[in-house]
Amino acid sequence: LEYTVAWPRPAEVAPVEGFGSYTAVLVARTGQLTPMLRHYLETKAEHADAILMYRMGDFYEMFFDDAETAAPVLEIALTARQKGTASEAPMCGIPHHALPAYLGKLVRAGFKVAICDQTEDPAQAKGLVRREVTRVVTPGTVSEPDLLESKVDNLLCALSWENGVGAGAFLDVSTGKFLVHRWGSEEEALEDLRLLRPPEILFADDDVTPLALRSWIEKSGACGTPLAAEEQLTGRRARQILEDQFSSSLRGFGLEKGEPAIRASATALSYARETQRSELGHVREIFIHDPHRVMTVDETTVRNLDLLRNQSDGTTRTTLLGLLDRTQTSMGGRLLRQWMLRPLLDLRAIQARHDAVEELVDREDRRLDLRAQLATIADLERLLSRAVLGSLSPREASALRHSLAACPQLLSSLSACRSDLLAAAASIDPAEDLAAVLQATLQEEPAASLKAGGVIAEGVNPELDECRSLARDSKQHILALEAEEREKTGISSLKIGFNRVFGYYIEVTKSHLERVPEEYVRKQTLANAERFITSEVKELEEEILSAEERQLRLEQEEFDRLVETVARSAKPLQTLATFLAATDVLATFAEVAAQQGYCRPTMKPPGDAIVMREGRHPIVEEALSEEFVPNDCDIDRDEAQIILLTGPNMGGKSTYLRQIALAVLMAQMGSFVAASEARLGLVDRLFTRVGASDDLARGESTFMVEMIETANILRYATADSLLVLDEVGRGTSTFDGLSLAWAIVEHLHRGERPKTVFATHYHELTELAVLAGVANYTLAVKEWDDRIVFLRRVVAGSADKSYGIHVARLAGLPPEVLERASEVLSNLERHEYDLRGRPRLAQGDSGPPVEGPDQLALFTSSEELVTSVLRDLDLEQLTPLAALNLLHSLRSRLDGE
Ligand code: ATP
Repeated sequence: LEYTVAWPRPAEVAPVEGFGSYTAVLVARTGQLTPMLRHYLETKAEHADAILMYRMGDFYEMFFDDAETAAPVLEIALTARQKGTASEAPMCGIPHHALPAYLGKLVRAGFKVAICDQTEDPAQAKGLVRREVTRVVTPGTVSEPDLLESKVDNLLCALSWENGVGAGAFLDVSTGKFLVHRWGSEEEALEDLRLLRPPEILFADDDVTPLALRSWIEKSGACGTPLAAEEQLTGRRARQILEDQFSSSLRGFGLEKGEPAIRASATALSYARETQRSELGHVREIFIHDPHRVMTVDETTVRNLDLLRNQSDGTTRTTLLGLLDRTQTSMGGRLLRQWMLRPLLDLRAIQARHDAVEELVDREDRRLDLRAQLATIADLERLLSRAVLGSLSPREASALRHSLAACPQLLSSLSACRSDLLAAAASIDPAEDLAAVLQATLQEEPAASLKAGGVIAEGVNPELDECRSLARDSKQHILALEAEEREKTGISSLKIGFNRVFGYYIEVTKSHLERVPEEYVRKQTLANAERFITSEVKELEEEILSAEERQLRLEQEEFDRLVETVARSAKPLQTLATFLAATDVLATFAEVAAQQGYCRPTMKPPGDAIVMREGRHPIVEEALSEEFVPNDCDIDRDEAQIILLTGPNMGGKSTYLRQIALAVLMAQMGSFVAASEARLGLVDRLFTRVGASDDLARGESTFMVEMIETANILRYATADSLLVLDEVGRGTSTFDGLSLAWAIVEHLHRGERPKTVFATHYHELTELAVLAGVANYTLAVKEWDDRIVFLRRVVAGSADKSYGIHVARLAGLPPEVLERASEVLSNLERHEYDLRGRPRLAQGDSGPPVEGPDQLALFTSSEELVTSVLRDLDLEQLTPLAALNLLHSLRSRLDGE
C-alpha cells in the first residue's frame, strides 16, 4: 500500500456530535472544514454502516476508514488527499465507469456501499456541486446483473422474534418474490437460514433475537445488519407499510395481527425501499411458507445427498442440481432450485408435473421445439425489477422486446397440450401490448447507452425526428460550408473539424496560412496547422449542438416513459415469467428423463410402499466408467419397514441408500426417476444421516453432529417419513456405537415406525431381523483366492464381515500394516477383548513378544485373564462399589466363555 502518513486514529480525539471523530481531527488540524468535506462528513454520518463512494469529477473517492477498508478489498492503492497538508486524509478512488466491477467486489465481500453522485451538471453549478446518495447497494438488495448469480435467488432476510416464536421474511429485490417463514423454535429458524443462505440479514440488536441466531449470523459470512430499537417497526406502522404495498388487508395474505411475521416483512420491505430509493412496485404479493404443503428438506439432507453443492469444491459438479439443471432460462434455473428444496406433498400436484414431463418425453419434437424457444427468452423477472428500479438499460429493454416477441408462438404451441400445466398457456397473457410498445419505441439495434443517442426509433416523437434531421442537415451544411470556404480561399486542403474544447473549427495547414482571410479568428496552433473559427461556423455549430442536445434529451424522456410502461406491466410480466419458468423446469425434467432413461414413478398415498425395480443412483451412474449395477428396493411397513443393510466396505451401501432417497425426492419435485419402474408412497419428510463429518464451523465434533442429527430424526420422523441412516454410531467406540445403533433401530421399530434403510458395519444388528418388519439385505461379493469382487447387487441376507482389510489393500496400504491388521482382526474375531470392551493388542506367530508392565498380554483363556486382572489389582485403592462391579464383570467374562 502506498499510503504511509500516520493518520491519528479517531479514538484519540473526542468526536464532534453528528459528524464522527474525523471531523474533530480535521477541525483540530485545520481550524475549519471545507464545504465539500463538511458535506462528505454529513453524508457519511447518515450512512455510517456503509462504505461511502463519493463522486468527484471522473472518480468515486473513498476517504478515512472507508479508504483503509476498501483499498485492500478492491486491490487499489491507498493514497492520501492533500498529502503533506493539515487536511491530509487517507483516500482511494476508482474511475466512475468502472463502478459496477468494483461495486461487485465490495458487495461480494459483504459490505454495503452508499453511492453519492453529482446530481447537477458541474458546469452549471454555482459553488459546490450538489451531491446526493442516489442508492445504497447492499448484498441483499443488489439488482445489477453483474453482481448477481443468474440462477440463484438473492435474498434479503429480516428476522423478528417474540415470546419464543419468530419469523423470517425473505425478499428478493431482483425478482420481487417475497416469502415469509414462521418459526416455533430457534432450531427451525436456523434450519431455514442454513438452507436459504440469505446474503444479508436484518435483526434486532438486542436480547430479543436469540443468541443462537445472532452467533450464526456472525459466523455465516452473511452481511448482518443489526437494527437498534428505534429503527424497528412497531405493530401498527409495520401493518401500515404492508397494507400500503399490497393495497390489501393482511388477513388476505394469511397474516394475523401482532404476529412476528408482520414485523419481519415490513422491516425487509422498508429497508429495501429505502436502500433502492424506490416503491418496489414489483413486490406485489407475499407468500407464507406452509410446511404442510411442501416436504421439509433440511440442510443435512442437502449436504448428504449432494443436492446443490458437492463437498469437495462447493460447485454443482457431481450434484443433483448439476445433473438436472439443463434449464434454458435463468428464471427456470432459479425455480429448479426452489423445487429441489421444496418437493411437493400433494399427490395431484405431483402427478400434474409428471403428466407434463411425460408428454414432453413422449413428444420429442415438441420438447426440442419448446426448449429452443425458451432459449431465446431473457430473464423477465429481473428485467422487470430493473425497470421498476429505473435502471433498465436500452439493451435490456431490447432483450425484453425480443423475449416478448417470442412468447405468443411459444404459448400457442403449448395450448394444445394434454397436460393441464402446459395447456394453461392458453390463459397466459403474452403482454402483447407491451411488446408492441417496445417494438415501436426502440431502434432495431439500440445503442448501449443513452449518452450517444440512437436508442429511440424514428416516428415515435415528431420533435425528436425533427431534431435528428436538423442535426443531419446541419452536417450537410458543414460540408457545404467547407466546400464554399475552399472555393473562396483557394486552399484545397482546408477542412472543417470538431473537438470537445472548441467545437467546430476550420483547419488550414501552415503552408497555406498566407491565404487565410481576415475574418478568420485564430483559436489553436498545431505543429503544422492552425485552427480558426468564423461567425458562420459558430452559427452552424449552435444549430447542430442544440439539435443534438435536444435529441438526447428527448430520447431520454421517451426511454424513461418506456421504462415506466414496463414497470407498470408488473402483473402480466410476472405471471408470464412464472409460467415460463415452470415450463422450462418441466421441459428440463423431460429432457433429462429422455437422455438418461428415467421412468415415470407411480405415486401412491402416504403409507404405501416404496418399490423400485432396477433403481440407479443418478449421479454415480454418470460418474462411473464401468456399468452401474441396478438394484431393486421394497420398503413397506408390514414386510420391510426397516431394511438393515450390511456388506463389505466399498460394496455400494451408501450408494444404494442415497439412490432410494434421491428417487423419492426427485419424484416429489416432479421429475422422473432413475429406475425401470417405481411405485412410491408419498413421503412427508426425508431424513438422512450419511457418513460422519466434523462441523467445525458449528463447533461440534463428529460424534456430536451425528447424535444431534439422529436426535432430530427420532424427534420429528413420522410414520410417513423415509429415513436413510448410514453407519449411525460409527463415531464412537465399538460397544457404545453398537448399543446406540441397536437401541435406535428398536425405537424406530416401536414408535411411529417410519420407513428406514439402515446401513451398518455392526453385523450384530442383523439379529434384530427377528422383529417383524425388519429385513436384512446385503451387498453381494464373490470371494476367491483371498481376493474379493464387488458384485454391487443387493440381495436378501446379511454379511458377517466387512472386508475392510481387502479394501485397504486395494487402497495401497503397506504390506506390513495389512499383515499386522489381519493378526489383530483374528484376535478380535476370537472375542479377545479387554475388560473395558476394547481390543487387546494382538501378537501374531512371528510378531515380537509383548513386554513391559503396561502392555496387555495376549490371553488364551478367560481364566488366565481373570487371574491376571486379580494379580494387578491395587487393593488399597479399590472402593467397595468398584470391587463389586469388578467381581460382576469377571464373573460374566467366565460365564461368557
Ligand atoms: P463403505 O462401507 O466403505 O462406506 P459403501 O458400501 O457405502 O462403502 P459406496 O460408497 O456406496 O460403498 O460405494 C463405493 C463405490 O462403489 C462407489 O463410489 C461406486 O463407484 C461404486 N458403486 C456403488 N454402487 C454401485 C453400483 N450399483 N454399480 C456400480 N458401481 C457401484
